[in-house]
Amino acid sequence: MTEKLMYIGGEWVKGAGTREVFNPADGTKIGIVTDGTAEDVKKAVAAARAAFPAWAGTSVTARAALLLKIADRIEELAEEFAAIDTADNGKPLRDSLGDATDSAACFRYYAGLIDKPSGQTYLTPDPENFAMTVREPIGVVGQIAPWNYPLMMAAWKIAPCIAAGNTTVFKPSTLTALSSVRLFELFDEVGLPAGVANLVLGSGATVGQEIAENPGVDKVVFTGGTDTGRQIMKTAAETIKGVGLELGGKSPCVIFDDVDTDIGVDWALFAIFCNQGEVCSAGSRLILQDTIYDEFLEKLAARAEKIKVARGDEPGSEMGPLVSEEHMNSVLAHIETAKSQGARLITGGYRLTDGELAKGWFVAPTIFADCTPDMAIVQKEVFGPVLAVQKFHTEDEAIELANGTDFGLAAGVFSNDIARAMRVVRAFRAGITWVNSYHPTFTQAPWGGYKQSGIGRELGTYGLEEYTEVKQININLAPGRVDWFEN
Ligand code: NDP
Repeated sequence: MTEKLMYIGGEWVKGAGTREVFNPADGTKIGIVTDGTAEDVKKAVAAARAAFPAWAGTSVTARAALLLKIADRIEELAEEFAAIDTADNGKPLRDSLGDATDSAACFRYYAGLIDKPSGQTYLTPDPENFAMTVREPIGVVGQIAPWNYPLMMAAWKIAPCIAAGNTTVFKPSTLTALSSVRLFELFDEVGLPAGVANLVLGSGATVGQEIAENPGVDKVVFTGGTDTGRQIMKTAAETIKGVGLELGGKSPCVIFDDVDTDIGVDWALFAIFCNQGEVCSAGSRLILQDTIYDEFLEKLAARAEKIKVARGDEPGSEMGPLVSEEHMNSVLAHIETAKSQGARLITGGYRLTDGELAKGWFVAPTIFADCTPDMAIVQKEVFGPVLAVQKFHTEDEAIELANGTDFGLAAGVFSNDIARAMRVVRAFRAGITWVNSYHPTFTQAPWGGYKQSGIGRELGTYGLEEYTEVKQININLAPGRVDWFEN
């Protein structure tokens, strides 16, 4: 196996050591990646700083042309990218294929956005003074990504960042670096100037820490766990870096009794079990009206038991393995805590070990009923296929339960009473919300959380603004003396 390298200043670079990569479906070794250090981050920051003035000064037309080439190549290689992420992360092929398509769309969207009108003009109290704003790139951005959507997280971060004229030092998760390496090969192939996008491979403790610390990084943008986000924010405070954080969630899906049960069950399943529940916005809390509670749960459990859990490259696989043994053990520990705290297990709750599944990190779709706000399963992010169900009677109770955690990433409400659905959705303290739907998200619309789910937004026009500074330009239309002082 050839060692996969880092990409720094337009060169493929070896780190101090190597790291083996395993397929979570069966534990087989699928690659070797180089392992970088803080020194490599320093080199990447220097390369990014050196490339910044020319890249920021490159016309939006030329920048857009490169982004479009990248989008085209991702689309052409979508199946290859999907195979890489499925082998590396475990997710079903249909999911990873969707990620590749969305990643191409993200580059294309930002290629199209950067020459659109931006900035404001102001008529000031002084008729001879005119003011306006322009948006300018921030400089060198450090970007740190998680393992649940390997290619897509890289696209969501890198596309708007370089489109806006910044340069980046990007670190993928050590668990799922392979599609990022392939993406950087495309950057090389299409002729992205050296130093504009730099890939540093290595652990969060060394490479990630240096990205957050390095004074040459102007902003750090991170997706991952809330505890890591908190640590990054503290580190970034030393140099007053801007931070963009997309953190965890414990997102509610509220279902009222006027909804067709089959439709409600279908969405509730999708909300929690898609991508093995390894989704920051997963609908990991089902908040269900008491009048339909028992019938709904019976149907939900029956359908959860029929989900096809299999290695991601098996035809028809609907749920793959969890990303690593360590993560599977963490999910199983959450399940044990829920049992010990009195949550009622209605299906799943164990590792799957039938036949070939024993070789990988598979957990059965798991549902706990009768959960109460004091339970850890209601308050803590599990990041796996584990659903906590809570019961409500009135609309006010539903809202109180929905908002009853430290998180505020996403929330969904299902009701055929549109006025009620709108009241509830407006009351949600969450950044991404759905009415009669759960999960769909679009490159065009902003993504990010309230409360401890994060700071800032990705995607859409908001996502581009996060990679710009606002400059005020004041123009004196009648140049002359100011005469503030007499002499
Ligand atoms: P982390 O938050 O630890 O990892 C995300 C990224 O941050 C990885 O690239 C990681 O590097 C890096 N990192 C870790 N520590 C630091 C640090 N001190 N400074 C800078 N970068 C750092 O997520 P985990 O993979 O450990 O998962 C833990 C939990 O986080 C999950 O169980 C889940 O609850 C949540 N999570 C949430 C995600 C989301 O989308 N909101 C995504 C992933 C996880 P390394 O390569 O060493 O892991």
